Amino acid sequence: MLLALIICISSAVISTTAQEKIDNSTNANNVIPQPPINCHSHSMKNAKVVKIWFSKATACENIPVENGNLGNDEFNKSEDCWNLLQQRQALLSLLVQDFQLDVLKAVDVDSAVVLVPGDKWGNLKDLLDKQRDSKNNETWLSYTLITPDLYPMLQGIRQHQSLLSGHEKRPKRQAHVRNMLRAGGIDPDDFPEEGTLNGFEDGEGGFNFDDYHESKFMNDQMKRWVQENKDIARLDVVGESQDVKDPIYRLRLGLHKRRNNLRNTRHVFLEGGNHAREWITPAAVMFLAQNLIDTHRRLHHGKWLNRNGNKNFTESGHLQDEEHDEDVWNPLEHFTFHLAPMTNPDGYDASLRDPELRFWRKNRNPNAVPENVDKCIGVDLNRNFGFRWGALGASPEFCSEAYRGASAASESETKAVQNAIMSMPNRGRAIAISVHCCAGMVLMPYGYRMRLPDNHKELLRSGMRFARAAADASPDGRRFHFTVGASSFTLYPASGMMSDFAYGAAQIPMTFGIELPESGPGLFLNPPEDIQHIGTVFVAGMKSMLKGILEDSGQKGREGTGGDRHKPDSNLGTGY
Ligand SMILES: [Zn+2]
Repeated sequence: MLLALIICISSAVISTTAQEKIDNSTNANNVIPQPPINCHSHSMKNAKVVKIWFSKATACENIPVENGNLGNDEFNKSEDCWNLLQQRQALLSLLVQDFQLDVLKAVDVDSAVVLVPGDKWGNLKDLLDKQRDSKNNETWLSYTLITPDLYPMLQGIRQHQSLLSGHEKRPKRQAHVRNMLRAGGIDPDDFPEEGTLNGFEDGEGGFNFDDYHESKFMNDQMKRWVQENKDIARLDVVGESQDVKDPIYRLRLGLHKRRNNLRNTRHVFLEGGNHAREWITPAAVMFLAQNLIDTHRRLHHGKWLNRNGNKNFTESGHLQDEEHDEDVWNPLEHFTFHLAPMTNPDGYDASLRDPELRFWRKNRNPNAVPENVDKCIGVDLNRNFGFRWGALGASPEFCSEAYRGASAASESETKAVQNAIMSMPNRGRAIAISVHCCAGMVLMPYGYRMRLPDNHKELLRSGMRFARAAADASPDGRRFHFTVGASSFTLYPASGMMSDFAYGAAQIPMTFGIELPESGPGLFLNPPEDIQHIGTVFVAGMKSMLKGILEDSGQKGREGTGGDRHKPDSNLGTGY
């Protein structure tokens, strides 16, 4: 705790205030952009979610941000835009430092979203009001108050979830829920008996897609899937979490019992739950698993067999449903899936259990910092991977939300994912995806430098397929958009990411970070009733992308261009 105070105070003393810096500078570019440092000494009480607006970004008007409006040439126009974004990041960093903000959504052309401690809001508001009247375009700022007081809402989420997801079966949890109900002026005895509210009293074990569940319930569900689908499913422990030593599981789905298939199949790795507060991501990967299992079972054990008990194939090699005249595609015929839905169980469970930690992002490694500094614990696992570790966009400061860790792959969670990726056969034809939320993007490498990968055309094509299919699968009345581009250009530069590791170190040619869309009352707060919507959108995107990759490699095979093997990137190491 002491060290945190020293560091927070000293950084405040060394730097002049945000207001002075803004006043003294006509060009915020003088300030070197740093990932924001959050000391987390504030409480969630009266915390506000605020969108900070920058002036209109004319330099970014040509940047290919909208789905369906993406041409390779347009990437060259984004240099000015990139400079502008850096200026804005620098400006935001000043505010973060002075007002102890949590950055919920980094600078996105003309805005950013932050969490403001209740006791800092008055002063921040004064500054923003003043800058709104400023004539200087570079330092003009404004704001929208998205959530005036977050705390009651987080409490409400907890009550709802505790009651729905079976947690109350544990005595400790039950007491906690009862206390919370009492605190909210509700008599706990007004609620029906334990077990009748949660819907799992039939021994289903506490997992569904109507709510968010602790990692244990996901693990139990994966074990059940394997029990019920021994012909296609296998479960391995690939590592453990750093603090609690919880197992990290990989669910393998494929026709791996057929020897030929193992050799011919292409392998797909997906991880979810890397960032603790992005609750929708493990749910989406689990939703994909359920969909793959269901599709396979329907095709092989159900109604899609014809009268003679044979499968009907269409010309494209897909199964044809005679009865419903429906083209049904079973990804397991072509791909083996390696699914790690929960790669940061410590951080995720903490975020799920404690409203004060709802926006926790890192793991919970207490030893990642000297002296176990209070609250500044943990490592950003998606800055910890062992490829170009410690380059752009990752912080050496342990209080930072983007703390990269003591060394490359220092965290056991990172090691688990790296091992799972490296153990995949046939990596030169594999696909690797890290699922995040909530920017609504499909991101190809690189994160650590401002360059496009050699096979960027192929990656863009796949990303666009995901984006279109996902948008088309959006539920009635809503349309989830996905922007497609390179990580460092489209989101922000960041090193030590899973996707750069998979592309650069594991030499997997088709590598993406998928940012699921924002929905509900605010960033990361996708309501439980959106799990199935976003899951459906995600599955549609994945299937379209994978189908396209197969079609592309089929065409290449016919054209005799030697297939789609990954060309080693000869320029590696000359970047940042
Ligand atoms: Zn994330």
